[in-house]
Amino acid sequence: MNTRRKFIRIVPASAAMIALSACGKKEEAPAAPAPAAPAPAPVTPAATTADPAAAPPTAAAPAAPASAAGAMVDEKDAQALALGYVADAGKVDKTKFASYQAGSACSNCTLYQGAAGSEAGGCGIFAGKQVSAKGWCSAYSKKA
Ligand code: SF4
Repeated sequence: MNTRRKFIRIVPASAAMIALSACGKKEEAPAAPAPAAPAPAPVTPAATTADPAAAPPTAAAPAAPASAAGAMVDEKDAQALALGYVADAGKVDKTKFASYQAGSACSNCTLYQGAAGSEAGGCGIFAGKQVSAKGWCSAYSKKA
């Protein structure tokens, strides 16, 4: 008797569970083929060439001004002779360099790289060397 009561209690509960699970079961549609995954975006060269080492240094010492380096141009250098460079514009050979005009000097030439008021500075013509602020050569170009 005891087992029978247990059976009666158990059977309806099991039947209810089976019925519930059957109702909850849904008819599944046949699985559609999954859409193809999109192709990965092409990698641009700029994205791959980013080099953190190429970034400018943050704690680097400031570069020396061009006018701070280089020896003075020698008037006897081949290039100086070709351009008629003289360290003192007052000594320009005016017969040979008729383009010279009074007042012209390296200090007021566009190619002069020295600071205002400096005695000497770099020059775009004589790379790595310095010219006298009072000098002159036939490549002179008046500063605007
Ligand atoms: Fe002087 Fe200008 Fe000639 Fe250079 S180019 S040597 S700055 S005159």
